Parts: sequence; C-alpha cells; structure tokens
Amino acid sequence: MRKYIATAAAAVFLSACTPDENPKNVILMIGDGMGPAYTSGYRYFVNDNNRADFRPTVFTQTLVGNASTFPADPDSVTDSAASATAMAAGVKTLNGAVGVDADGQPVDSVLKHAKQAGMRTGLVATSEIYHATPAAFVAHNANRGEKHAIAQDFVNQRHNDMPLVDVFLGGGRKYFDHDETALWQKLEADGYHRVDDFGALENAAGKRNLVGLFADSGLPYAIDSDVPDRLQRMTRAALASLAGSDEGFFLMVEGSQIDWCGHNNDIACAMKEMGDFAASIEIVLEFMKANPDTLLVVTADHDTGGPSIGREGSYRWMPKVIRQVRASQGKLKEVLLESEDIAADWARFVDFPLEDDEIASLVSAQQYSRETKARDNDPKSLYASIADIINRRTGTGWTTHGHTGEDVQVFAAGKGSEQFRGNQDNTDIGKKLIALVRN
Ligand SMILES: [Zn+2]
Repeated sequence: MRKYIATAAAAVFLSACTPDENPKNVILMIGDGMGPAYTSGYRYFVNDNNRADFRPTVFTQTLVGNASTFPADPDSVTDSAASATAMAAGVKTLNGAVGVDADGQPVDSVLKHAKQAGMRTGLVATSEIYHATPAAFVAHNANRGEKHAIAQDFVNQRHNDMPLVDVFLGGGRKYFDHDETALWQKLEADGYHRVDDFGALENAAGKRNLVGLFADSGLPYAIDSDVPDRLQRMTRAALASLAGSDEGFFLMVEGSQIDWCGHNNDIACAMKEMGDFAASIEIVLEFMKANPDTLLVVTADHDTGGPSIGREGSYRWMPKVIRQVRASQGKLKEVLLESEDIAADWARFVDFPLEDDEIASLVSAQQYSRETKARDNDPKSLYASIADIINRRTGTGWTTHGHTGEDVQVFAAGKGSEQFRGNQDNTDIGKKLIALVRN
C-alpha cells in the first residue's frame, strides 16, 4: 500500500496555524466532477463568446491553486468516496470508501472536529444526502453502496448525545422514511424540524436543527427542474440556520450533479449545474461581506468525462448553441423514444433545428432502441445519437464516461484563504481545514 506523505509546505501551514487566527465559520464547496474544462467552459458559456470583454466568474475571481486527487489504490483514478474522504479527513483511502482509511478504520472528518470544537455543522447536496461526497463527512463505511447503513450514521454518529450534523439538505427521503429503521422518527425525537419542499424551506430559516429532503433519491437536474436554483435555495437556508447563533459553523455544499452530467457526456446539463453551483458560491461570498470572519474553499473531487473545448480537429466551441438546449439528453431521449414526429418534438426542447441527416440518424436510432431496448452507452442507441448531435453542434469532446485524474483547481476567499495557495494534495485540504476548525 502506498503511504501518502504530506508536502513540506502543508506541514509549515499546519504548524503556523493557531486557534486565535482561525476563522469563525468554515465553508467548503465541492463541485463534484468539476475538472478545469468545466470552469473554462462555464466562463465562455456566460460570456456570449465576446472574448475581448469577458465578465469575470466566481471562479476567475477566487482561483488560488490546484490539488492532486489520486486515491490510495495504485494505478486508480479516484472516485468521489476516496476524494471526499481525503478532503474531509486528510487521509488517502481506497475507491468506494467513505470516512474510513485504506485499512477500513474510521477517520474523523473536519465536520466532526468542528462539532467537537463547539461549532455548528451542515451538509448540502443535490444528490442523496447519503451519497459518497456528503457521506464522507459523517459516516464510516468501506462501501459507499451501503446507502441505508450510511443514512443511519446521520442519526447514530453523535456528540453530546446529538447527531453530528445540525442541518442537512438534499435528496434521499427513501432511507429516512424507511419503516424498520425509522430514521426520521429518531431525528424528530432529537428535536429536528423537517421540510420536504422548497416553499416550506423558505419558512424554516430560524430552525436550529433542520432536515430538508426534497426527493426520494437525487434531485432533478437543474436543466429539467421546476426549481433550477435548488442548490442556491438550500445554501441560503443552511446559512440562515447555521449563522443564527454565535458558535461559528462548518458547512459543506456540494454541486453533486456536475458529475452526473459529465458521466452522461451532456454539456448543456453540465453548464446548468455549473450555473447553480456558481450562483451558490456568490451567495456565500455575499454572506462573507457581512461575516468577514469566514473562510470559503471551493474545489472539485476529480474531473468527470474528460470534456474538451473543441473536438476532432475543429477549432470551434459554441456556447451559444449549448444555450439553445433546454433539456437533459436523458429527457430528450425519453420524449423522442415515444415520438411520431422527431423534428417537431426536438423543437419543443432545442432551439436549433435538425438537419435532414440528423433526423435520419435519430429515426434509425429510435427504431434500434425500441427494438433492442438499448442501453444509453450502446453507441447505436437513441441516447448516443442525441448526445452525438449536441456534442458535434457545440464542438464538445468527451474522452470517457468515467472520471479522469488530472489535478483539480482550488478556489478560496476570506480568513485563512492564503493557506490554500499553490500546489497541494487533496489530503492537504482536509488537514488544513481540520487545523482551522480546531481550538
Ligand atoms: Zn462520478
């Protein structure tokens, strides 16, 4: 087993840190799958290709460094579980492991350290709240697939006879409303307030212990959702709840579905998720104007999909075409699979009309998918045909349906942000955050 050795620079930062200099509030925001092409792409996406007069984005304004993401397993590209454990606990572990080291032993997260230091704690995600990234901050399990057991850790991992997480907002009703374990009833007995829709969330700002579960599993994609600003709403509500007292807080906010759009090689879906994530960062930066004693760190756990801006020798990337796509490729597939008039149904969701050869390829892929019930990763499937049209039209390349291992960017602002400058490992982020919440 490869043992990870902290860089000398990180060791200096850790020893230089004293509780007096610690920020009152620490906020970590993770764009799941948000490799460098996503932040560059997003900058083009919001700027109408007017390259002489770029508006800055939250990413250009706060970039401070980068981080390596490799897991403990030799020759592997990381998954979200190993990378989240690195950022939560400062420890390298195996893919699939949340909150345990490579030997399966539990490791304490920055959220737990914050709780033990008397701070309040929160987790926000657009995935299930017991999905790998948020799970690594509260649960201990060598297998991220053990979702029911991980959900139970939201009740069973405790400090001073209360659950570790004061406020958690996201998807994942399924296991909290499970009859046998009655997790929600246990949280209710601990004094938690529960909301299940965004209207009720607006009215729950003053609640000290708050659970918001807005879907049985993950929330709908922003591009398909009735609530496309769902991460912004949850971020605002978490801040309102956590900042309502003097203790200070640790909050992790995840833009979970950047990764899912990347797995699907769906650039319009990814840019919408980037928009919701970026706007959520802006909400935090606005909070920090009134609360300067706050640290914000933003990063990714890995890249997903290996997207490229430009493809196959063509020197073009067309964000204005991406903006003409108003549904995820998955939703387009569902509609076109049943369609009797592909061009007309396409036009309900996409503002560029199809060429004749594109219609012909969709018709034949529709027939193939109806006859074979082809999976989306079958290159002859209707899904693949839709993805191919959108990726060609926009000039977007993809190299995989999985993750890629290049370094991710690190963004930071506020008190202590200088500690995250330069080149670091994802475990250094965890170690620095833990030092900053300890007192
Ligand atoms: Zn992923």
